[in-house]
Order: sequence, then structure tokens, then C-alpha cells
Amino acid sequence: MLSNAVRLFRRGRWTAALCLVLAHVFLSVMTAPASATELTAKAARIAGDEARTRIVIDFDVKPDFTVHYLTSPNRIVVDIAGTVNFAFPPEQLEARGIYDRIRFGAMSAGRTRFVLTSKLPAGLEVAEARKNDEGEGWRLVLDGTIVTPDQYATMKKQGNWGNTESNVPVVPLAPQQAPSPDSVFTVAVDAGHGGIDTGAVTAGKNPVYEKNITLDFATALARELNTRPGIKAFLTRDTDVFLSLGERVQIARSRGANLFISLHADTLREKSTRGATVYTISDRASDKLADELAKRENTSDEVAGVEVKKEPSEVNDILIDLTRRETQAFSISLANSIVHSFEGEIGLINNPHRSAGFRVLTAPDVPSVLLELGFLSNAEDVKQLQKPDFRDKLVTLIADAVKRYREKLGG
Ligand SMILES: [Zn+2]
Repeated sequence: MLSNAVRLFRRGRWTAALCLVLAHVFLSVMTAPASATELTAKAARIAGDEARTRIVIDFDVKPDFTVHYLTSPNRIVVDIAGTVNFAFPPEQLEARGIYDRIRFGAMSAGRTRFVLTSKLPAGLEVAEARKNDEGEGWRLVLDGTIVTPDQYATMKKQGNWGNTESNVPVVPLAPQQAPSPDSVFTVAVDAGHGGIDTGAVTAGKNPVYEKNITLDFATALARELNTRPGIKAFLTRDTDVFLSLGERVQIARSRGANLFISLHADTLREKSTRGATVYTISDRASDKLADELAKRENTSDEVAGVEVKKEPSEVNDILIDLTRRETQAFSISLANSIVHSFEGEIGLINNPHRSAGFRVLTAPDVPSVLLELGFLSNAEDVKQLQKPDFRDKLVTLIADAVKRYREKLGG
């Protein structure tokens, strides 16, 4: 069936070819074993040129998958049903040929994603799980080729191939929980990045991932806050999964958070810069460094193959505007409280309170700050961020700042 599809594709009979591919994928999905929730990707290969590129990934069991397409930038998204254990070095899947970026990792509990980004619109001629003739295991073959913008638009409109998506459990978006009573002050602690979105990564042999540092600090911070009377903290994620920026905001709001603290440890071009920084939201960035950082942070959804939906414009709503302004004042007050807490105790960068348009800080009604714990571009910070003593000191100081902020509110 697929060879027919390829032939039709080559003749430009795009829709007919796509139907055949769709039918094929549908059949393979229908006949696939229902269990495969844990898979091992043993090895990967990529080969090809600027016109067509083949990716082959070796699995121990048959992978169930779906494919869909996204624009701005052009991305082919391949979702595997199940948790994939990646047993091959990432270099085996370094972008080349038609692709200029390849990412893969956990998307949520039970879903793993590959995102293939290309400069020109590209589509998959072949996406197939093939059983190895010799030996055990399966290989996922993804043959990509450059397509016309029209073809790309058609592919995008077709939506998902196959239908595994609905069978895959995803992380619940809005845990059903009533907002806390007034007497309890609720803090949402957000570990930046996660899953397919690694965040910053140090160079060299044993790389340090921002997503792991942030989870480590977030877990410690939530624990510390929960020891303080009258304060209750929860994590937006407590495992290595991806959350979109919008989901992070939504989780905080749906659980009635009084504060939102997002933790990060990014890289800067200027390697000598080290120390902590506290960010609040603003339309115009306070400086160039803040602007660059916010732009990079805001690509998190793009990296993970999530379509960024334009928020409906609410600027004209005077009530929302007032709420935003009030929230903004609270956010700044919390940022000052954290800077004050760190002074003389923890290294801070110059002008440690800065602002820019971070999308994760857009909850209109939850005061929010983004804290750079240090920078993975600085060797000293990397060492420090891995020390439990430093972590415990830092989270105690943040918890002190939250307590002071709350007292100032009269809580
Ligand atoms: Zn970050």
C-alpha cells in the first residue's frame, strides 16, 4: 500500500497518496498491540540531503505513533504512545539534511514526542513501523521530503494520522480542586522546562540539564514552604514531563494560587555573568539581557511542538486591566522581597530585579515572578547549583521572602 502511496506522491497526486498513507497508518494502529506503554529506543540513524532525509529509530517493541504538522516554524511532530527510554546518545539524531533542529523527549505521562523542524515545508513520504527481518525488534522509518506550501497546508489540515491520541493518558490539565479558603496562602511552584524541553544544557561530557536543576529546586522549595504555618505550596510538575507555558499558568489559576514562582537556570552569552535574578512581567523589557532571555523562554512551546494560540485580546476590558495592574504591583512587591532576602546571602547579578514579556508570567490575577537561580553558562554557578547546601539555603531565603510578602498583605 505504501509503495503505491510513494508512487502517487512522486506523481504529485498528493491527496490520493495521503489517503493511502492515512489508511495504512490507521490499519497499523488498529492492529497494533494495545499494551506497549514502555519502549526502549536502542539506536537511531539519520541520512540524506537537502531534498530528502531518512530517520530510522530502533525500538524493542512496535511503536504506535501519530504524525501531525505545525507551522511557524515548519514542524513535523511524531508522537509515540508510551514512555520511551532513550538508550542512544543524542548525537545519533543530530539534525541534518532537510531538518535544522530535532528534539525528542517525554511530553506527558505515557506520551513521547519527536519534533522535526525544517526551514522549508517538509512532509513525511513514509512513516512506518517495520519489523526487523533478522533479530528482534522494530524500526520506525520516517522519510521526509521538501513539499510545496500548498501540499504542506493540506497536510496540516488533515490533522493527526492514526488515532492513538485519544487512548493516551495525558497529565490532567486542571486538577479539580476547590480554591483554598482565605486563611491558607497558596503558592504554585513551577519547575521551568521539562520532558522534551530540556531548557539550557551545559557543554561537555556529563551535561547538566536546566529542567533537572529546576525540578530539584522546585521540589525543595515546595517542601520548605509547606513547613511554614498558613502556607500551602504545590508543584506544577513533579516529574520530568513537558508542560506548555499556558498550562503552567492555567494550573496555578485553577488551583487558586495566591502566588506563582517559576524557577530557571538559563545560559547567557556572557559566560562570566553569575548570580540570581528575579523577573517580573512588562510590555517593554528592562534591558537587552532580559529581552533575550524572555524571547528564548517563550520558545519553549515551539521547541516541544505545541501550537501557540493567540490569546483573545482582552486589553479593552477595563476590569481585567485593573486586575492586571494590581497583580503587577503585587508581583513587583514579591520580587523586591526576594531580592531583599538574597542580599548579602546569595550572589545576585547587577540590577537583580528586571522585567520582560515572559509568557509564563501572564496570569492576570496571580502575582507571578520568574527566578533565575543562577546561570548554566557560568562554571561556578553550575557547581553551586548542584550542591544541596546551596539549594537548601536558597529555598529557605525564598520561603522567608514569601512569608514577609504575606505579612505585608496582612495575612
Ligand atoms: Zn529556563
